[in-house]
Amino acid sequence: MSISAAVEVSDGVFAYIQPDGSWWINNAGFLVGKRGVVSIDTCATEARTRDYQATIAKYTDQPVRTIVNTHHHGDHTFGNGLFTGATIVAHERLRAEMAAFGPPVPLPFWTPIEWGNLDLTLPDLTFTDRITVWSDDLACEVRYVGQPAHTTNDSIVWIPERSVLFTGDLLFNGGTPFLLMGSIAGSIDVLENVLKPLGAQTIVPGHGDIAGPDLIDDVLGYLRFIQETARTAKSTGLTPLEAARNTDLGQYADLLDPERLVGNLHRAYSELDGAPNGTPIDVIAALTDMVAYNNGKPLTSHA
Ligand SMILES: [Zn+2]
Repeated sequence: MSISAAVEVSDGVFAYIQPDGSWWINNAGFLVGKRGVVSIDTCATEARTRDYQATIAKYTDQPVRTIVNTHHHGDHTFGNGLFTGATIVAHERLRAEMAAFGPPVPLPFWTPIEWGNLDLTLPDLTFTDRITVWSDDLACEVRYVGQPAHTTNDSIVWIPERSVLFTGDLLFNGGTPFLLMGSIAGSIDVLENVLKPLGAQTIVPGHGDIAGPDLIDDVLGYLRFIQETARTAKSTGLTPLEAARNTDLGQYADLLDPERLVGNLHRAYSELDGAPNGTPIDVIAALTDMVAYNNGKPLTSHA
């Protein structure tokens, strides 16, 4: 597996790409300024977060003063506490969801993950709509997307002066999108009406390689495929697991972590039942079905 690397996508703006972007292996990013570093997300484990810190240190001797979390998932937030003294900025709902999930613990649905020594470290500064974080004179607009999408608490980081967009897990590149804790319909709306109109030239997704604007349409295609699959399967009385087993993934067969299909169908079924977007559903049941789809084996994590 190739090595994680920082890519300078614009002057002083770096994407931190961790291959292969599968379960728990996220992307982060950082901006190097004269008065310190702004980091977008952290990493899942102590080891991966320390590697990330060592990478930042190759470019600057300034400390990370500000962290923006894009959503509450542990692969983007568990490393927060290793950035001593940094102010962690996030949507207010992220703070609540992160507190509810709690610190990293052994998770039976995945192959074992060596978390290391990590303290749950919640945001210090929360917002409800948007907030601008500055790296010297460069504005980074942190915008809540306004509705459930990948989770209930997704924010993007948009750098208009450079046309660079950090999307968190609203977009996956080369991996299967995952909507179990968010909304299929909400994601479609956000991609069409929040992300696309920005016209970003450079997109840093939450997992996988840096992309151009076409990635938005690629993910929209998968989301609509899920809705269509769910509509047909539900009308014929199939459970989400049965529906997944009967689904030909076609052009999506090569995406990493294909078992997310089952979780996505659980979410799509809930929306077909008329449940509000982002309403809590039985995550344990869905994850259990994902393991069943994966031939009864725990989901593969290389984190
Ligand atoms: Zn996520």
